[in-house]
Amino acid sequence: NGFAKLGITGPLLKTTVAAGFVEPKPIQIQAIPAQLQGRDILGVAQTGSGKTAAFSLPILMKIVGLGTKRLPKTARALILAPTRELAVQIEDTIRVLAKGLHVSTALVLGGVSRFSQVKRIQQGVDILVATPGRLTDLVREGDVSLAETRWLVLDEADRMLDMGFINDVRRIAKATHRERQTALFSATMPAEIEQLAQSLLKEPVRVEV
Ligand code: AMP
Repeated sequence: NGFAKLGITGPLLKTTVAAGFVEPKPIQIQAIPAQLQGRDILGVAQTGSGKTAAFSLPILMKIVGLGTKRLPKTARALILAPTRELAVQIEDTIRVLAKGLHVSTALVLGGVSRFSQVKRIQQGVDILVATPGRLTDLVREGDVSLAETRWLVLDEADRMLDMGFINDVRRIAKATHRERQTALFSATMPAEIEQLAQSLLKEPVRVEV
């Protein structure tokens, strides 16, 4: 199997194949082994390229290896997306890929009751998918801590920039663990995104499809 060659093994390989992902796409071939080696990623990729699995599978591979003991009030991994629709879609994909693997996920979105979102994160979650505005509020008010968050993904960074989220993104990144692994995906690479990448990524592997 193509995903096995990239380093996706054990129960996660089974769920990946069961989800209908048999042959990895080019972005996955480039990005998955590098992330499993602990490298940061700068990805130039469009929707439809398979980028969601490209950043989710390495995180899932590491989290499945960590076991189920979670820290309260925090998320092990954080994925930021510009819109509610995209965030929901990313969480759906992760749930399908992690089916039966005891990986917990949560969503933080604007326009949804804060109480239920906070309650879930208070118990500790493996993977949090969020839009930047609401998460900034929850972090600022102390409802959510990212101090132990060691994986950060910025998806569609150029759209987050266009929507005025760039300062929220920077603030959120600053609140995560200093020794984190980061992946930034963007369809375009304007100067502001190159700058953001330079400040948030450590010697990233650049992938382009
Ligand atoms: P994305 O670019 O992440 O939104 O993915 C686009 C679509 O491709 C989604 O419907 C995925 O489920 C699908 N997809 C991603 N990777 C694979 C793969 N290796 N094999 C089959 N389908 C895939």
